[in-house]
Amino acid sequence: MGAVCDRLDELDHLGDGCDRGLVAALRFVLVCHQPTSRRRCRACRHQSARRLWRSRRWPCPVWLQVHYELIGPFAGGRHRQQ
Ligand SMILES: [Zn+2]
Repeated sequence: MGAVCDRLDELDHLGDGCDRGLVAALRFVLVCHQPTSRRRCRACRHQSARRLWRSRRWPCPVWLQVHYELIGPFAGGRHRQQ
């Protein structure tokens, strides 16, 4: 989350050139899709073979896509922070 957060802060501070509502919306999405202590997404669910709803493993597709659009491919948490 660190690098994505930094990027959002950057966009937020650009001011006029950037849609602040958009940054706020993205931030909200990311907050909803934070990992739990067990590395599960708080928001995403998938149905197991026994038709039980389970938390999806983190990073989930939503988080990965936002990360990809803002920074690039997610390298499993080992990426360099800018
Ligand atoms: Zn998620």
